[in-house]
Amino acid sequence: MPRTANALLDRLTNLLGPDAVGRRSAERRFFAQDALGSRAAASEAAVPLAVVRPATAEEVAGVLALASEAGVPVVAYGAGTGLMGGARSLRPGLVLDTVNLNQIDVHPADRLVWAGAGSILADVDSALRQHDLCLGHDPWTFPVASVGGPLSTNGLGYKGGRYGGMGDQTLALEVALADGTLLRTKALRRHSTGPDLARLFIGAEGTLGVITAAALRAYPIPERQELRAFRFRRFEDGFAAVDALTALGLRPSLLEYSEEHASPWPELSTREEEPPLLYLGFEGFAEEVEASLSRAERIAAGHGATPLPQQQVEDFWAERHIIAERFARNRGNRRRRNGWGDPGLVRDYIHVSLPPSKVLEFRDICHRQPSRQGAVLFECALWTGPDCFSAVLATPTADGGQERLQGVIDALLMSCQDLGGSMEYVHGAGLRLAHLMPREHAEGGFDLLQRLKRALDPEAILNPGKLGL
Ligand SMILES: Cc1cc2nc3c(=O)[nH]c(=O)nc-3n(C[C@H](O)[C@H](O)[C@H](O)COP(=O)(O)OP(=O)(O)OC[C@H]3O[C@@H](n4cnc5c(N)ncnc54)[C@H](O)[C@@H]3O)c2cc1C
Repeated sequence: MPRTANALLDRLTNLLGPDAVGRRSAERRFFAQDALGSRAAASEAAVPLAVVRPATAEEVAGVLALASEAGVPVVAYGAGTGLMGGARSLRPGLVLDTVNLNQIDVHPADRLVWAGAGSILADVDSALRQHDLCLGHDPWTFPVASVGGPLSTNGLGYKGGRYGGMGDQTLALEVALADGTLLRTKALRRHSTGPDLARLFIGAEGTLGVITAAALRAYPIPERQELRAFRFRRFEDGFAAVDALTALGLRPSLLEYSEEHASPWPELSTREEEPPLLYLGFEGFAEEVEASLSRAERIAAGHGATPLPQQQVEDFWAERHIIAERFARNRGNRRRRNGWGDPGLVRDYIHVSLPPSKVLEFRDICHRQPSRQGAVLFECALWTGPDCFSAVLATPTADGGQERLQGVIDALLMSCQDLGGSMEYVHGAGLRLAHLMPREHAEGGFDLLQRLKRALDPEAILNPGKLGL
């Protein structure tokens, strides 16, 4: 280790204490990676110099000041469940593990909670439930993800149709800046006093500052929840129903609409065609839920929906976090982590947002364009509304399947951008989509992002290489 790095680690040990500066090789290797796995392997992970665990905002600010002075990169790390390589270390530097920033302070009268960036979402929700309140953000990773992770990717959960994404539920932030200063904004629903500075750090993936705490909206525990499942004959019919109920102003607390296609390679996968299926739910006060549900059922029936057995949607809801719990259990076992069935196939997904009027056109592109490159559309879905469209693409592993699929995905994402859409609605851009960021923020946006980055982080220490910054 170079002398300057040793000197930095000594200064960090003085600041945080020896227990909060992890130098063990296995620990450093573990924290070099997040859940991106083997995809985007072109940017191999670099083993960090140390994993630091500050316990207060002032300590985080102190770490950043020392790192800036030494010109050493700092990657903020929550639970490492991010799928885009946002928390992958690209150069030997510091991983700033937020695990000790875990204070949770409920303000029932103001219907908000100040939560440390390292608090686990499920723990924040449990603290709120003691006051008959709850969180609105409910991603698959609810039991394991930190508060700082979804803030930094502006994540979206199952209940996003009702409560919005993580950014929509955030009233204020406390942030440590690269020069070692702290920012704390006011936890208010509205202010008309210049730009909302908290917004600058939502979705910034730790490239502009490190979030140390957030004031999140707290919602009353719903009086009632109703769930339903429907089949449609054609994807277009269910899309029209989803679009109509959204246009009316209904705000479902569950909206997942998906269809699956048969594998054209029976020797590699026995997957069969599944007609479109809509899971729909409402929650809130009893009369609101009753009225929303009865109107939504009428809309679905008007588009030819067939109701499915109630148990099917109840099971879906009860099991919605299992995959993330399994992921957390298998962390470190990379062979199991990257498995996704059918070893003869590689699969990958996209999650794009589009003007609703362009969604069916884009779905057609997802059918046609990949087949010209030896890949197929396996699944497509709407999540939380008609504008958030996901697709799973697959191709045989043989003859460079991984690279072929990467080309297919990039071409689709660019087609989405050309239709006025955004290449990602949920997971952030991280490392995986960094190369498409200039195109995503064309017309002056990317240039402005770069100027903001230079102003806030002149030594370029904050999560370098992510978001293309
Ligand atoms: C099986 C599975 C299912 C998933 N389902 C969903 C889903 O339904 N919805 C969804 O939105 N996401 C989902 N994800 C992605 C991931 O769980 C979310 O992005 C999650 O919010 C990441 O939280 P984390 O604590 O693990 O963050 P990390 O992975 O540790 O970090 C994510 C990014 O945020 C940055 N960061 C972390 N903490 C801070 C901080 N305090 N300050 C500044 N930057 C910070 C990191 O540097 C990184 O760039 C899923 C992932 C998996 C593996």
